[in-house]
Amino acid sequence: MLCKSSWLCLNEIFHMFQSASGLIINKAKSMLYHNDSNEELALWIATLFGINLAPIKDGFKYLGFFLKPKGNRKLDWTWLIDRFYKKISRWEMQFLSLGGRVILVQSVLSQLAVYWAHLYFLPSSIIKKMVSLSANFLWGGTSHFSKMHLVKMDTISRPKRSGGWGLLHMRSFGKALLCNSLKRGIFGTGKWSSIINQKYLKGKPLVYWYRKKSLGSTRGSAIWLGYRKIQELFFDFLRWRINTGSSILIGLEPTVLGLEDSLSPDLISFLHSWGLFSWNKLIHAWSSSTPVWKTVDELNLPPTLCHLWVSALKVFDVKGIKQSGTNDVLVWSKSRSTQPVSVKDLYAAASSTLQPLPMPWFPSKFWKSSCPLKAILFSWLVFSNRNLSWEVLQRKGWTGPGRCVMCCQAPETNIHMFFQCPASAKIWYELSLTYGFPHQIFSFVQVAFK
Ligand SMILES: [Zn+2]
Repeated sequence: MLCKSSWLCLNEIFHMFQSASGLIINKAKSMLYHNDSNEELALWIATLFGINLAPIKDGFKYLGFFLKPKGNRKLDWTWLIDRFYKKISRWEMQFLSLGGRVILVQSVLSQLAVYWAHLYFLPSSIIKKMVSLSANFLWGGTSHFSKMHLVKMDTISRPKRSGGWGLLHMRSFGKALLCNSLKRGIFGTGKWSSIINQKYLKGKPLVYWYRKKSLGSTRGSAIWLGYRKIQELFFDFLRWRINTGSSILIGLEPTVLGLEDSLSPDLISFLHSWGLFSWNKLIHAWSSSTPVWKTVDELNLPPTLCHLWVSALKVFDVKGIKQSGTNDVLVWSKSRSTQPVSVKDLYAAASSTLQPLPMPWFPSKFWKSSCPLKAILFSWLVFSNRNLSWEVLQRKGWTGPGRCVMCCQAPETNIHMFFQCPASAKIWYELSLTYGFPHQIFSFVQVAFK
């Protein structure tokens, strides 16, 4: 630590620099961070330079990014929640349809945390809060009151083909972003990559960590600890690109083209029992760059397994294994493909762990129709029996007449309101006359609805 006279000297240099260059320090934007060791001196320096003082343990923003010496707590992310409140409070006074709100949630709210989610494993409580604020806004609530949520966010935050509305599942999306960032760190060539490889992977090759099923050091910065939390997802996309075939463990480690799928489990366990674990042990010789595989006799295969080996060889030929002279390499790729992995692939993998849901009858054609989004969403609610009919309200504990207000004859269920009620049958009939569609469509939809 410099003594007071050195600081006075430094201050003088600053002043000389300022008057000579005309560049002035912006004191309002400057901050002196101290580590509690000599608070009195820190205060003296801050007063000397005329800038504010703050303890470094509370963290600070650098290039828009919040840096903190020790682990991230929930409290360190409240500013992100404040951003949600700020955005929502601007919209809540507007009369937006459900479709409009869905668009805002999808294109604005879900994207607010993207920048941070690709570097940090955000605390679950913060994600829950973001999801609940989005849900409250989606169903027409404001920051002061909430309305009835017709469908859980977990249900609609799924792809449309899985029965959802295609909203982002924030936790899964966060995992996908983080995994993509880890991949760039490990396979990249920049400074950050060399830090990861030297500091966290301790200079050991990736295959060492892959076989250990644990990635790098268990200690480190919040960013590194976040990476470790999604390591399984990262490992799922690691596979071997076969060259000499000497490094890959047959049946235990996947290859880019899915070679191991051609061998049956019986054959693999037989090979293992003979100590044959690597692909090069199954190759008799290389004819230029093409492998000449060992025969059933050379492998001492029992008669029951011979045909399995012969049929596997046909698949190997199709897959075209070529020796390029170099060792096998561990690459990050989609299964059975050499295509690079996109964030979309990662998101699909991260969200595949969600429990499957019973799907409402809602064909994908409906999503692609030229109807306004609000009409599509309303029909989704009707088909999955989530709209506010008396039947649904009573299920939620409401009491009321429960009869159809049009005919007063039957209980107000969706099937009655939209199909069976004499009033709606009349509407369907008039519509079929006006727009010229065959009346049978009405019966078709009714049957499908049941
Ligand atoms: Zn009725």
